[in-house]
Amino acid sequence: MQTKLDALKQTMPSLAVSTQAKDLQIYGVDWTGGYQAAPLAVVFPRSTEQVQQLVHFARDAKQALVPSGGRTGLSAGAVASQGEIVVSFDKMNKIGEFNSSDRLLQVQAGVITQQVQDHVRAQGYYFPVDFASRGSSQIGGNIATNAGGIKVLRYGLLREWVAGLTVVTGSGEILQLNQGLYKNATGYDLRHLFIGSEGTLGFITEAQLRVTNLPGEQQVLLLAVPNTQHLTQLLVLFRQQLNLSAFEFFSELALQYVLTGKGVAHPFTQSAPYYVLIEYDASTQAAQAAALQVFEQGLEAGWIVDGIISQSQTQAAQLWSFRENISEIIAAYKPYKNDIAVKPSLVAPFLAELDTIMLNQYPNFNVVWFGHIGDGNLHLNVLKPTTQTQDEFIHHCQQVNQAVFSTVKRFGGTISAEHGVGLLKQPYLSYTRSAEEIAYLKQLKQVFDPDQIMNPGKLI
Ligand SMILES: Cc1cc2nc3c(=O)[nH]c(=O)nc-3n(C[C@H](O)[C@H](O)[C@H](O)COP(=O)(O)OP(=O)(O)OC[C@H]3O[C@@H](n4cnc5c(N)ncnc54)[C@H](O)[C@@H]3O)c2cc1C
Repeated sequence: MQTKLDALKQTMPSLAVSTQAKDLQIYGVDWTGGYQAAPLAVVFPRSTEQVQQLVHFARDAKQALVPSGGRTGLSAGAVASQGEIVVSFDKMNKIGEFNSSDRLLQVQAGVITQQVQDHVRAQGYYFPVDFASRGSSQIGGNIATNAGGIKVLRYGLLREWVAGLTVVTGSGEILQLNQGLYKNATGYDLRHLFIGSEGTLGFITEAQLRVTNLPGEQQVLLLAVPNTQHLTQLLVLFRQQLNLSAFEFFSELALQYVLTGKGVAHPFTQSAPYYVLIEYDASTQAAQAAALQVFEQGLEAGWIVDGIISQSQTQAAQLWSFRENISEIIAAYKPYKNDIAVKPSLVAPFLAELDTIMLNQYPNFNVVWFGHIGDGNLHLNVLKPTTQTQDEFIHHCQQVNQAVFSTVKRFGGTISAEHGVGLLKQPYLSYTRSAEEIAYLKQLKQVFDPDQIMNPGKLI
């Protein structure tokens, strides 16, 4: 009897297909951890037309497909554990034309985020979507998750930087969405439906990305902060006086893991419960003077207990490394990750309430806090105690979820700010979206993916 794979190879002889155990293992999971890879195969299309042919095949064969980018996702969106075919964009990695009049760069979905940044920088422009996984994540994955990162405060989410998309829908049509236009008032903007759709409506195969001017000189401030209440006060104070590109935070425990993991010294003589990292435009003397003035104001008010201002690009990078190394260092402790958000004005009471819940109900857990606090986005990471098995730990964390997500709901927040829903947060979607909204989402999926072959089980 002919298997599905034989049929695929016969229908698409030029498509690169792998069933090697190593590839199935690597391409069947993402950064989330805790899932078993079990795809049927991994395929590597080279063009939008090949993706379209693959979708036609999958519809006929009733075969589920999982789009796969750099697999740096943190919500198990690219996991294939049910015999799916993983569709990797590794071979669709061409950077196309850059048009400086339109300020648009044409890319295939598999181009690495950092390559886009470097490519436009070499021509005197700036692509501001940025995060620690920039060296591995792909533009297609970034678009499918509407990625955020460390510069959202000034430049917005990835959505702001997508001027056009080429997609192959789950029903096999190729759509050109918005064609790179700045203005286009012709009804529903389907481009925005595909941004953040986590591969559940179709494949993103190409994009036209916007770029902007290179920023002027940036300076970095690292502040030691005595309590949560001052975090919001500092955001308001610094934002009023300076042009901020980042306002990030992390706890002393997060810092301790980085110091031990990287073998570096504590940046301050005395530790504090929280630290805030601020990046701001320091290209004028007025801006530098304003930074010093607000820093002193914060000290006098008792909102800051100590601080360091970067004196060089090297020192700025060192200060950033305390924040940027957290995810990588704590990965060894198999953290249960949460990516929650509320309005920035509610961060202090929200954080205080969650801290109390975690301390009272889960005193054995090490909780590592960090995040993009200027956007109201907190990453709550629970580290696995050595006394628990992985299964016990996951079970326990699912109980934690109920407490955390009920608090998120009460604060009018979201269970996923930027990582997406994937498999990990799918059971909890109703904490953020109403039943009516979820019903509309399901109907939209049905329109674009009538046979439910696109990333089944993820998001909805
Ligand atoms: C150390 C570290 C730091 C991180 N920091 C941040 C951060 O600050 N901000 C942030 O937003 N994220 C962050 N992330 C998460 C992750 O990097 C982002 O979600 C990123 O956008 C995922 O891109 P990817 O190419 O790796 O996608 P993948 O993980 O491969 O896939 C993500 C989702 O997109 C879908 N997908 C992938 N490619 C396509 C395509 N071509 N068409 C349709 N669907 C597709 C997948 O099916 C999946 O649902 C971080 C991750 C790590 C490991």
